Amino acid sequence: MADEGGEFVDVLLEWYAENGRHDLPWRDPSASPFEIFVAELMLQQTSAEQVRGVYGEFVEQYPTAGTLLAAPEEDVAKAIEPLGLRKRTAYFRRASAQLLARHDGRVPDSRSELLNLHGVGEYTAASVLAHAYGRDASAVDTNVERVLARVFGSESAEPESSEMWDLSDRLAPAGRCDDFLHALIDFGAAVCTARDPNCESCPFEATCEY
Ligand code: SF4
Repeated sequence: MADEGGEFVDVLLEWYAENGRHDLPWRDPSASPFEIFVAELMLQQTSAEQVRGVYGEFVEQYPTAGTLLAAPEEDVAKAIEPLGLRKRTAYFRRASAQLLARHDGRVPDSRSELLNLHGVGEYTAASVLAHAYGRDASAVDTNVERVLARVFGSESAEPESSEMWDLSDRLAPAGRCDDFLHALIDFGAAVCTARDPNCESCPFEATCEY
């Protein structure tokens, strides 16, 4: 793709405005940083549709780190059982304990403090910064990497490579990273899917390197 920056981002954001999953509850502007943090932990290796099935009840029951930590471990495990990945129960409890001990129960707004929480890696930290605090942060997971690699023809042998993080950093539009990250995720889930990309109805068909 010749224009590496503006054109791709503009078209993607336009696509997102029309086709994005704006009704996902953790994307509601009223969602608290803790609720967004919970959603990001739930979304690890799990689809948005699966998370949608348990998220609402979970954050209603456990709206804060304090309420989550006070709950019996079996109750938390049962609430997220449909998501699989049992270690998430421990992540929730340990991270909640850390939030209470280090941050008065608040979700921190710095990358380094987020990375020090259980279960939080680079992608989750960047997502929380962008979605909970409106920060300019880019993030690459396997789905985002697939979209960028196809569009820009820069497939790397390494999953979630530094090359892709650099590309994502260059593309990330200042002040719009919240939408940009959601747009990449939704586009990868709806159009540029892993097995059967829908190239015929893709807005990048003419310029994509794939
Ligand atoms: S043209 Fe196909 S491979 Fe390229 S971004 Fe669109 S759906 Fe993905």
